[in-house]
Amino acid sequence: MNHLSAALGRIAPSATLAMSGRVIDLKSQGIDVIGLSAGEPDFDTPDFVKDAAIQAIRDGMTKYTAVDGIAPLKQAIIAKFKRDNNIDYTPKQITVNSGGKHTLFNALVATIDVGDEVIIPAPYWVSYPDIVQFAGGTPVIIMATAAQNYKITPEQLDAAITPKTRWLILNSPSNPTGAAYDAEELKALGEVLLRHPHVMLLSDDMYEHIWYAPKPFATMLQVCPDLYDRTLTMNGASKSYAMTGWRIGYAGGPEWLIKAMADLQSQSTSNPCSISQYAVLAALNGPQDFLRERNVAFRERRDLVVAMLNDAPGLSCPTPEGAFYVYPDATGVMGKKTPQGKIIQTDADLIDYFLDEYRVAAVHGGAFGLSPGFRISYATSADILKEACLRIQAACAALT
Ligand code: PLP
Repeated sequence: MNHLSAALGRIAPSATLAMSGRVIDLKSQGIDVIGLSAGEPDFDTPDFVKDAAIQAIRDGMTKYTAVDGIAPLKQAIIAKFKRDNNIDYTPKQITVNSGGKHTLFNALVATIDVGDEVIIPAPYWVSYPDIVQFAGGTPVIIMATAAQNYKITPEQLDAAITPKTRWLILNSPSNPTGAAYDAEELKALGEVLLRHPHVMLLSDDMYEHIWYAPKPFATMLQVCPDLYDRTLTMNGASKSYAMTGWRIGYAGGPEWLIKAMADLQSQSTSNPCSISQYAVLAALNGPQDFLRERNVAFRERRDLVVAMLNDAPGLSCPTPEGAFYVYPDATGVMGKKTPQGKIIQTDADLIDYFLDEYRVAAVHGGAFGLSPGFRISYATSADILKEACLRIQAACAALT
């Protein structure tokens, strides 16, 4: 019998990966489609990181390792948290996992019971609600509209907390909007959490180093150290170091939680890939200046895309402060008619129209919990982005 578990029935395949699949299909048919749906940098993994991985293979580092990470990598992560975020951790407070998604999965599955609530600001990264639901929890969504720069307010947070709230997940800079909380905004949210001692904070800092705001990046524990005992600060190599395929994520947090995550990992994946761990060790301990150079390129692309999308009739695109996504509000094109006679009723209709008629792939806002809008990843060359934005402008201009 083809029986599937109830837990599996509570999750859906990732909408971003589904769109990437459609792009691959069209390309394989020889169709000229511009894919702006994937959330990964177009830059390559730095050579010094690749060299470290090759050396690790040569040195025979090809065996099982400690379940939640080799000791030198944990030390490098401790040094990173101190250097970049001024947070102190010991090795027993560090976990290393097979990608940032795995870090989140371990943390949520290890702590959520049926009926527990997890507060997730929308627009959110697609996997948060599904992982919460897989674990038996209930996502509680707070809407953060374009008018509020896609950021929740302390009042909204306070109103969403109930006795069943287990976690708040905060992701800054955000996938999918690029919105980033500054230190004062974080502190105001932290003060709400301080009034509710049963709520844990999962700070997803994956895009920490892809940052354009004049103020420095801040994470919650820098501004609210009193939350130290109930905060998991997670990060990873995928986005900053252009290492999506290597699958390394990590986090620092309270010892009891880190141990629970290791227990879960010991009965599921065991250690993350040994070779990838040595690669990330090199990435964290090596020169960091290329991060700034890459940010200059990302920033130019952001400015190009924001300006061109704001020139598309009916779209309004806020300027993000980090990550490599924009999230234009598409309210102005809802209800309009395509030259093919179809009414654009939802952002999913809009995305289909872009793909079918103009061969540009984006991801509809419904997937991220806030409609009508869509996400574009601008981690690709300026020439491709220019062409994609011209197509979107033409598509919007053709609507009546
Ligand atoms: N957190 C956010 C906000 C992300 O956008 C992603 C990846 O898209 C992850 C976590 C997970 O990253 P990884 O590819 O390391 O699993």
